[in-house]
Amino acid sequence: MTILNSTRELQKTDAAHHLHPFTNTRELNARGTRVITTGKGVYLYDSEGNKILDGMSGLWCVNVGHGRKDIVDAVARQMEELAYYNTFFNTTHPPVVALSKLLSDLTPKQFNYFHFTGSGSESNDTIFRLARYYWQLMDKPEKTIFISRRGGYHGSTVASASLGGFGSMHAQGGLPIPGIFHAPPPSWWANGGDLTPDEFGLKVANQTLELIDSIGAHKIAAMIGEPIMGAGGVIVPPKTYWPAVAKGLKERDILFISDEVICGFGRTGQWFGCELMGTEPDFMTMAKGITSGYVPMGCVGVSDRIAHVLLEKGDEFAHGYTYSGHPAACAAALVNLEIIRSEKLIERVRDDIGPYLQAKWKALADHPMVGEAVMEGLIGAFQFTSDKKARASFAEEAKIGLTARDFSFENGLVMRAVGDRMVIAPPLTITHAEVDELMEKTIKVIDLTY
Ligand code: PLP
Repeated sequence: MTILNSTRELQKTDAAHHLHPFTNTRELNARGTRVITTGKGVYLYDSEGNKILDGMSGLWCVNVGHGRKDIVDAVARQMEELAYYNTFFNTTHPPVVALSKLLSDLTPKQFNYFHFTGSGSESNDTIFRLARYYWQLMDKPEKTIFISRRGGYHGSTVASASLGGFGSMHAQGGLPIPGIFHAPPPSWWANGGDLTPDEFGLKVANQTLELIDSIGAHKIAAMIGEPIMGAGGVIVPPKTYWPAVAKGLKERDILFISDEVICGFGRTGQWFGCELMGTEPDFMTMAKGITSGYVPMGCVGVSDRIAHVLLEKGDEFAHGYTYSGHPAACAAALVNLEIIRSEKLIERVRDDIGPYLQAKWKALADHPMVGEAVMEGLIGAFQFTSDKKARASFAEEAKIGLTARDFSFENGLVMRAVGDRMVIAPPLTITHAEVDELMEKTIKVIDLTY
């Protein structure tokens, strides 16, 4: 085996052989990748020995922080016992049984059945098929259409990227697939004008229901949405929005899918984002925080209403992934969820560290270059603006967000840029002192960008 030592050598070999996700390879070749070698708590360390506060929990997934030996040990033990067996063709294994039971305890009461996958994308593709299959079994095969939202992110596979509302993704590879309509996002700062957030929330909910009625509710299988849009720039919806949408869907006999890939497992100060939004979904998409990213895993929560129809009227569901319910992933999930529970991380986010960071974060809105600063639980964003009063954006060529992201990294803080919105979602274990450091670095980044 070749051992690559120096950072430069790693970068060169990486550029020569590794096609990265969501990365401009030409740019990468010119400036080199950042080589992350170690993670401990909320910190990452790079190949040059720099210490970086991971303000994004990796990709919004390392909820319990890096370097948890309990999870590592449990995965190692499981791999020694049974590294792999599948859950197809009438087989199961102890960790997948234990995890299914634990999830039925932790998720909202209507969820008692779980289908495991390898990722959030696979979970959404699974739901795409399950929802259509449900309506076939209900003798309503004409209900095939899905409603999602512009700016929503649901993954990178064909159905999940089509459900997502990113033009840049649709443009590559001829998406979206037919039968998907995108409603407007509840982005108050960008589109709310003179309306209060609550008025605007109702307006967007009505626009969504109008779209549904113009298509014909009898043709619509389901609507999918993230409780708080993540990759679309952390769009915290006005409080009026989700209850009005969910009520309208119920009245029209349309299923509701809550994509909890980011919002699930404590991120918003509840176990699941739908609990904060007051909705009762028929399906939940889960991934990321289920294992805190230690081992890949996704999961579909199937509500009793759907599951009973599948079990009573359905045949074998001809769907599944080699790694559905992988034993090592289940072992990681079991310990990870026990950590969230025993360390009371959800209560901590709701009552202690969440409010502590929120108060400081929301004060960023006083800066002349910041249009709004929002945060719920431990997921937040602030918006750069060239004119606060007019809520104006910077010219795209100015690349303000990317510049700030790079400043931030160089100053030892990982933040993500979505256009000119800077996004943060630190591990749920972040301490008060680490929040102070995060804020100090964020303010420095804004001042440097200003
Ligand atoms: N759904 C949401 C809300 C996400 O944020 C993501 C990933 O960021 C996905 C789905 C896709 O998950 P994965 O990257 O595990 O396929």
